[in-house]
Amino acid sequence: MNPEQRQVYKDKLKAVLLEIEDYLSKSEDAAEAVSPDKSLGRLSRMEAMQDQQLVLEVRRRQKRRKAEVFNAISRLEQDQYGQCIFCRSQISEERLDAFPEVQTCMKCA
Ligand SMILES: [Zn+2]
Repeated sequence: MNPEQRQVYKDKLKAVLLEIEDYLSKSEDAAEAVSPDKSLGRLSRMEAMQDQQLVLEVRRRQKRRKAEVFNAISRLEQDQYGQCIFCRSQISEERLDAFPEVQTCMKCA
């Protein structure tokens, strides 16, 4: 991978990181436990708790993704970016363009 390409992916990864951080800070309130004294009916309390579970799940996924993005940035810096961590083959550009933080090729995914 040449330095220009590396820069392109670095920018992409940073954009992904910003997106994730934005989501994480915006969803903080929604992730908080539904307090029992909140004046909700029985049904809407259940709905609120389901919503909360959903937000928690998405946040978990985004946090995992964030770690992968950091990992990808450090691999970029070590010139190992774009290489499958299992079989060491080159990950296709289409795949990297779609998921810049991806660590595995199609076969190993
Ligand atoms: Zn592989």
